[in-house]
Amino acid sequence: MEGATGTIAKTQKYIMNTYARLPIAIARGSGVYVWDEEGKRYLDFVSGIAVNALGHCHPAVVEAITRQANQLMHTSNLYYTGPQARVAELLIEGSPFDRVFFCNSGAEANEAAIKLARKYGKEVLGPGHYEIITAWNSFHGRTLAAITATGQPKYQKGFEPLPAGFKYVPLNDVEALRSSVNDSTCALMFEPIQGESGVKPMTGEFLKEARRICDETGALLILDEVQTGLGRTGKMFAFQHYGVEPDIISLAKALGGGLPMGAMLAKEHVASHFEPGSHASTFGGNPVAAAAACAVIKTIVDDGLIDNARDVGGYFMSGLSRLGDKYATITEVRGMGLMVGLGLSWGAKEIAGKCLELGLLVNPIGDTTIRFLPPLIVTRREVDEALAILDKAMDSCGMAAKGCA
Ligand SMILES: *Cc1c(COP(=O)(O)O)cnc(C)c1O
Repeated sequence: MEGATGTIAKTQKYIMNTYARLPIAIARGSGVYVWDEEGKRYLDFVSGIAVNALGHCHPAVVEAITRQANQLMHTSNLYYTGPQARVAELLIEGSPFDRVFFCNSGAEANEAAIKLARKYGKEVLGPGHYEIITAWNSFHGRTLAAITATGQPKYQKGFEPLPAGFKYVPLNDVEALRSSVNDSTCALMFEPIQGESGVKPMTGEFLKEARRICDETGALLILDEVQTGLGRTGKMFAFQHYGVEPDIISLAKALGGGLPMGAMLAKEHVASHFEPGSHASTFGGNPVAAAAACAVIKTIVDDGLIDNARDVGGYFMSGLSRLGDKYATITEVRGMGLMVGLGLSWGAKEIAGKCLELGLLVNPIGDTTIRFLPPLIVTRREVDEALAILDKAMDSCGMAAKGCA
């Protein structure tokens, strides 16, 4: 067995330097906990960035993967396979959509949505309709089209020329949204809650206006539910909080239970513009990933994890608000269900570093937000444990208690 230094040193030597990783090597996980190679335990409130929704190594997922791996691992999409058909049925019957395209990541799911929207735009609205309007500070993934859809210049810099046909509006600015739509618009694309840029929910007013504009102009409403989907926010899909139905959604993260899997779902009148040859993925809907996804969706539904996300998420947010009564540094608690952001006046990295030392994984975003994405199986007791560590971390970072600042 190699120690952490082995893993870290090899990674730093052989793997392209694209990640600013924390200095631990994780060796195993179970439920809401992971252990590093030195055997130290951490309470995981990041969940592999909202991927491990059932916690680590959930028996239903392990069993599904093991059984499928012994039977058939891959055939390509030249043939039909059972697990892909079964997960498609689960997704479609549990949603207002009619058809799904399977791929392997969130970026690919958005790439598929962008291609479908452009093809629909040209075929239905006219050849000049190719432009997609997205939000500043959005995040849609790292392929060239996805970084262009992403309204953050820092992810685009150095990779120009970017694909044409994207423009941005400030999130929740209804006026800007209205005036950005024109004769070349084919779609509007938003995250219901901006995740990567710091847990920023979209207002109902903005989403309703987006829907109204699409109904009026024929443009498509695409929601990127890669992070918010599959129960994370206390509903199966975040758009269900708003009473607004999109034409297309993208999913990934939690879908494969830790295996790479993405999906793009659409209503029939949109989906019908994809035909044989329009789009493809060698691995998309791979039998093992699809079997895992079936187990994930069934467990989320059968074990009441969506209600748990709502209940325990609310409990967690009130606990964070109580910490806010104690520490002047806390400016805001935002989010829905178990997608939670803690707004700070400073010190997100310091607090996260201290939490790591004390055995809690959290995700700092810039200097003023900590993002929490605990698994949907998390209990109030584990939330109490996290809150106690957070309290201790903030205290030892020398954060001013209110009244003594
Ligand atoms: C993570 C994420 C993506 C990108 O997913 P990848 O699997 O990393 O390609 C896209 N959109 C949103 C909202 C995300 O949170």
